Amino acid sequence: MPLPLLVNLAAEWAMRVLVEGDLAIDATVGNGHDTARLARLVGPAGRVLGFDIQPEALDRARKKLQAEGLVDRVHLILDSHENLAEWVAPGARPRLAVFNLGYLPGGDEKISTRPGSTLPALKAALDLVMPGGLLIVIVYTTSETGRAEAQLVLEWARTISPTRADVMRIEPLNTRESPPTLLLIEPRGGAIRLKTPPLASSHPDGQPLTEVNGGPDDHARQSRLP
Ligand code: SAM
Repeated sequence: MPLPLLVNLAAEWAMRVLVEGDLAIDATVGNGHDTARLARLVGPAGRVLGFDIQPEALDRARKKLQAEGLVDRVHLILDSHENLAEWVAPGARPRLAVFNLGYLPGGDEKISTRPGSTLPALKAALDLVMPGGLLIVIVYTTSETGRAEAQLVLEWARTISPTRADVMRIEPLNTRESPPTLLLIEPRGGAIRLKTPPLASSHPDGQPLTEVNGGPDDHARQSRLP
């Protein structure tokens, strides 16, 4: 069996964790591929908050979501992810936050995520995501900014107390000089409710949703949303 790409592994974890009716965060919308995936997984009763600092990215994502009939489940927010907590209603708890770091593919490579905003955003997400939920982070090390960001993110993740969260690092060892790294961060206090056995599926979005969310959180009142 060929080993999956990190982005596909990240997608598989999103599929295992999210259930219909959930609130999920896409902290870096970009072209909207992750946003659309999350929107499919949370279903019509769920919500995705998607952040990007580039109007161009949000426009591209909006077109994709409209074409796929998913736009009603997503709030696209032109704001830095370091402010994400301000957009979540008090008491609402996302089950998943995805950070696919770096620059907009096909866009301006100079506009990239940066350690100064990525770290506060990750800390805010760790505070918000419910126990047993998941933070999925992909960091890239091909540019100097990316390497600095990866170093800081990994240092931070390494020092998270094991009583606060379980942290796993996954990366290719022998493929190329600057491989990306996948971090899975599970806030403690509950178990992830897997919908499929680990590594059982070949394509994340092809799997039917079979479980119903036992107790959806009240995420209807995102504080800065209409
Ligand atoms: N998830 C995307 C997809 O499915 O196409 C890919 C994301 S792309 C690698 C990274 C995105 O992060 C870029 O679109 C960039 O504009 C955005 N970004 C950079 N800094 C940001 C910030 N402070 N807050 C939110 N988004 C940011």
